Amino acid sequence: YARVCMGVRATVTLYAVDEGRAEAAAARAFARIGELDDAMSDYRAGSEVMRLCGRAGEAVGVSEDLFKVLTEAARVSEASGGAFDVTMGPAVALWRRARRTGGLPEAREIDGARPLVDWRLVELSKEERTVRLRREGMRLDLGGIAKGYAAERAVEVLRGEGLSRCMVALAGDMYVGDPPPGKEGWLIAIETERSGRRMGAVMLKNAAVSTSGDTEQFVEVGGVRSSHIIDPRTLLGVTTRRCAAVVSRHGAWADALATAVSVLGAEKSREMIGRFAGTGAVVEEGAAEAGGRPVRTVIDPGGVVGSWWR
Ligand code: ADP
Ligand code: MG
Repeated sequence: YARVCMGVRATVTLYAVDEGRAEAAAARAFARIGELDDAMSDYRAGSEVMRLCGRAGEAVGVSEDLFKVLTEAARVSEASGGAFDVTMGPAVALWRRARRTGGLPEAREIDGARPLVDWRLVELSKEERTVRLRREGMRLDLGGIAKGYAAERAVEVLRGEGLSRCMVALAGDMYVGDPPPGKEGWLIAIETERSGRRMGAVMLKNAAVSTSGDTEQFVEVGGVRSSHIIDPRTLLGVTTRRCAAVVSRHGAWADALATAVSVLGAEKSREMIGRFAGTGAVVEEGAAEAGGRPVRTVIDPGGVVGSWWR
């Protein structure tokens, strides 16, 4: 089953003996994703997260989902030294304008965004389940974590309907449940448009895989490709050619860590990946268009990536 959710193509694949039941369960899974989109979209002025941004300074009570996503986001921010940062909104807005107009933001605009981008400015109170944004003008962007979280929640819905042999994908963020009948797992091929070949394939069950990189969304200014993933040091798009696939036991982790690896690069990501149980990554870096092959690095402390196809 396919629909457009969270601005991307979303698919639900499942095994069931009864088509009516399958359809009803898939509809519930999509409805759950829709609920998360309503809460977390930065494109909808009325979303829970945008309303939160309008109340900087106050401790605002939030839904369990939003609180969970912000908690996991903070964990990945800490582990990545701020490479992953959901307060990136003001810089993302500048990037989106650059994509429309073809001109990079001015230094003074970057300077204006800088004081608003810092994950430590998001205060979470677990006891009260509240969030306080410490500065006026902060803008949260959950685009690097919400899809992975939503894919896992949708699989949870399908499990609850008794259809645990399933897979949910939101563009490059996927979560798989139990394997197809008679199989060890779901065989998922990871393709990179950039190098024009298959990065590999993983066999997974009850796990997430997310890909991230410059293959789909970028702006080109003066011949330099700038990714939609923003480097917090420059507040501009990452310009290194790099793509990452992260396998993890949690959808939010896979999604956010894939984004973080795209900023940090393979070498600087080792320690970060090691801090998340059941998580591994494959990274490809280097200019591919000159005809050379990208350099591949596998970070797999827990052996979850296993053996990839070549
Ligand atoms: P995709 O949107 O292709 O799934 P990602 O999961 O890597 O890719 O998320 C990229 C999105 O995350 C951007 O479009 C933006 O909304 C947001 N973002 C950009 N840079 C960062 C960053 N450094 N940390 C967290 N989120 C980011
Ligand atoms: Mg991501």
